[in-house]
Amino acid sequence: MKAIYPGSFDPVTNGHMDIINRAAKLVDELVVAVAVNLDKKAMFDVQERVELLRQACRHLANVKVDYFNGLTVSYARKQGAGLIIKGLRAVSDFEFELQQALMNKRLDDQIETMFMMTSAEYLFLSSSMVKQLAELGASVCGLVPEAVEAKLTERV
Ligand code: ADP
Repeated sequence: MKAIYPGSFDPVTNGHMDIINRAAKLVDELVVAVAVNLDKKAMFDVQERVELLRQACRHLANVKVDYFNGLTVSYARKQGAGLIIKGLRAVSDFEFELQQALMNKRLDDQIETMFMMTSAEYLFLSSSMVKQLAELGASVCGLVPEAVEAKLTERV
C-alpha cells in the first residue's frame, strides 16, 4: 500500500517525525507531501521545507518527500496512493480533520484517510508553536530535527 502524508511542514517538527516514523512501518511506500498553500503565510518557502524534510527522513528507505499544488486527492491519485495519513493531536484537530476527510471521500471514494494519534510527548507541539518559541529566543531543542533547529536559529 502506498500512502501520502500531506501538510504544511513549516517547519517539520518531531511531532510530524513521530507520525512519519510510525507510518513508514505500516505502509510499503510513504510520500510526505508539502502542500503549497498560498493563503498561509509561511516562514520557510516550499523548497526549504522539502529540503528540511528530506534531511530528516534520510534514514527511512521507503519515504519520499515531494510537494504539490491543488487538491490533496488529485495528488494522491497522481501518486497512485490509496491512503492519506493525518496526525491527530487534540479534540481541537478533530473537527477540521473530520470535515476535510469527509470532503476528500466525497471527491474520491477510492482514497481512504487514516488518522494516527500523536505520541503523548508531542501533544502540545505544532509548527506555529515552534516558530513562536524561536522568535522569542527560547530553545527548540528536542522539538524539531537538528537541521531545523539550526535553520530556525539562523532565520530569527
Ligand atoms: P501544523 O498544525 O503543525 O502546522 P501541518 O499542517 O504541517 O501542521 O500538519 C500536517 C499533519 O501533521 C496534520 O495531519 C497534523 O494534524 C499533523 N501533526 C502536526 N503536528 C503533530 C503532532 N505534534 N503530533 C501528531 N500529528 C501532528
